[in-house]
Amino acid sequence: MSDETKTVICDVHGDSIGTYMCRHLVRGSGLGFYCSAEDDDEYPDACGANCNEIMEQEGGWNDTSEAAASIAIVCHHCYESAKLRNQIKMSEDDWQTLLSESHRYLKERMCDVEDQYDILKYDRFDFDENAGHLVFSGMVGWNSKQNASTSAPYQQKTNTWLWSWGNDASRKIPER
Ligand SMILES: [Zn+2]
Ligand SMILES: [Zn+2]
Repeated sequence: MSDETKTVICDVHGDSIGTYMCRHLVRGSGLGFYCSAEDDDEYPDACGANCNEIMEQEGGWNDTSEAAASIAIVCHHCYESAKLRNQIKMSEDDWQTLLSESHRYLKERMCDVEDQYDILKYDRFDFDENAGHLVFSGMVGWNSKQNASTSAPYQQKTNTWLWSWGNDASRKIPER
């Protein structure tokens, strides 16, 4: 994790933010660029494909994977250059394949949701950010199928249907 309070003096760029990456990325190119996408850090700790594989084999960062990576501190400008040099660019064909596969995947999920919950019968939905609920409402001609097939409780009083995510992460309020 980069630390803006931790400045480094780079030979090339002068005073900069300190960032961390495996030693191979510092001088290498085309090694792949792996980093966590979970936090908001602009410069998350990064490593190449090899170090990432070792880290996964080890089940995380431990003495073995850290020794292989031998993490170095570099300035944030050098971090950006290393990222550009090491990222493996996707070919146009691979990109098109990814797009169509993603599209098909999402379409299938949409069909599943329509089949399971008949969501197209509802006039509207609202997202209750604090509760982490999607609330479908205004359905004409309610049938009990939805109530039986899902853990989502039908709200008799308000004539709405409440869908709570099974994933705890969705309860996190988006920070941006
Ligand atoms: Zn490495
Ligand atoms: Zn630098």
